[in-house]
Amino acid sequence: MHLDLRHEPGRVLIGLTPGEGEPDTRKGGLARHTASFEVSVAPRSLHPDLLVLSAILCARPWIRRQTPVVTSVAGSEALATALRSGPGLRLASVDPDLAPRARPEPGAPGLCFSGGTDSVAALAVMPEATRSYHLRRRAPAGERRATMFDTRAAQQSCEVVRRHGRQVEVVRSDVEYLRDVMGFPHDFTTAVPLLLHADRDRLDAIAWGAPLEATYRLQRGYYRDLADSPFIGEWGDVFAAVGLPVCVPIAGVSEVVTSRIVQTHALGAAAQSCVRGPRLGAPCGRCAKCARKTLLAGAVTGRWPSAHVLERQWRGAEPRGHLLADPVKVEPVIAHTTHAYLAAGGDSALLRLVADKVGPDPLPWLDRSYEPALELVPEPYRAEIADRLHRVAPPMSAAEEQAVRDYDVRSVDRAAAQQALAAWLDAHPPQERWPRVTGRARREARARLRRCRDRVRSLLPGGRRD
Ligand SMILES: [Zn+2]
Repeated sequence: MHLDLRHEPGRVLIGLTPGEGEPDTRKGGLARHTASFEVSVAPRSLHPDLLVLSAILCARPWIRRQTPVVTSVAGSEALATALRSGPGLRLASVDPDLAPRARPEPGAPGLCFSGGTDSVAALAVMPEATRSYHLRRRAPAGERRATMFDTRAAQQSCEVVRRHGRQVEVVRSDVEYLRDVMGFPHDFTTAVPLLLHADRDRLDAIAWGAPLEATYRLQRGYYRDLADSPFIGEWGDVFAAVGLPVCVPIAGVSEVVTSRIVQTHALGAAAQSCVRGPRLGAPCGRCAKCARKTLLAGAVTGRWPSAHVLERQWRGAEPRGHLLADPVKVEPVIAHTTHAYLAAGGDSALLRLVADKVGPDPLPWLDRSYEPALELVPEPYRAEIADRLHRVAPPMSAAEEQAVRDYDVRSVDRAAAQQALAAWLDAHPPQERWPRVTGRARREARARLRRCRDRVRSLLPGGRRD
């Protein structure tokens, strides 16, 4: 892979030219060959390793391990070594005289901020000085593809965070258009806005809002050791090599706890996990995240919607797919909240069938903090973050910690329960055909309007033609 890196006033441009054995069709296809990030950082004020790593995180799906990565800006030996030992990539452009980026002292932690519940909960337990970085999608001129994901709620979420006196940098980028099927090329592409501001803002840690279920992969049905998580195994040393040790403040607590944090914290008004709603406070109500958040809100507040409302949500095309998956997507949370609903006297036939499938409630450990996860909080922030976490989620007992490590739904035979659930959903198809059709028409009209506006702008004197 050849990566051309240009830092001009106002933006960083990354050009991707696949090398031998790296066809454009790899990993779902490379639809465009450039990505840009709008930044207010002056050219040549950034450590070269931050640029090189940013480019690699955009191009990662199309890089073959055997093919060297050639970059127009050379990186340090330290970065090359970490890329080799972690993700197994060969950085060919190395400047032996380049010292690696030193971790600033004093510094401030940075957070890759999405506006979702987990992201806001992470911010709520991090130090006041934490700076957030949000990657906002911007369509490149002439781009015809539209997406159902709406950026407006996340934008408002950033404004709420700002109103609380916290620093937020919004970086507009077209990186999500690189892939044929639009979206971030890699889980860590969301780090690029932070990396590009790391020197200006003297950042000394890079944080994500990944809860227990994601960090230990419980959402796939069984426990995975921290050493094998991408935060440590693959990319930990790479981020450390640019002076940004990885920080996952909520790695030890589940979505049940992060939901409680946003329900009780002032910053909680900024949280919305649904990426399809038109504004903050107006989630779409139809996606699987919305359906899960309804259950979580019920479990946290003790106030439950009627069986009819819950069932209408879960009968939707996407949520039903999550229930029918084996394991259920984010099963520990579904299991706990479903049992909480039934224990509170809920009478939904669908949720009774879900409870039969998922087995007994995995609580109480879901409600507490898994202490080994604090390894993912670097010094000097560990004590402060642990203290804030423990106020909402006391540490687990040794037995509860063991229950997390033993978590495995694969060994249980639940064919009969699965069949009963599938039969109920077959008999109760989605009730939302009409809103889905109008929703798509609205999105397409919006994309057309945006293209039109871009065309007009590019014709105006001084208009950008990027
Ligand atoms: Zn939604």
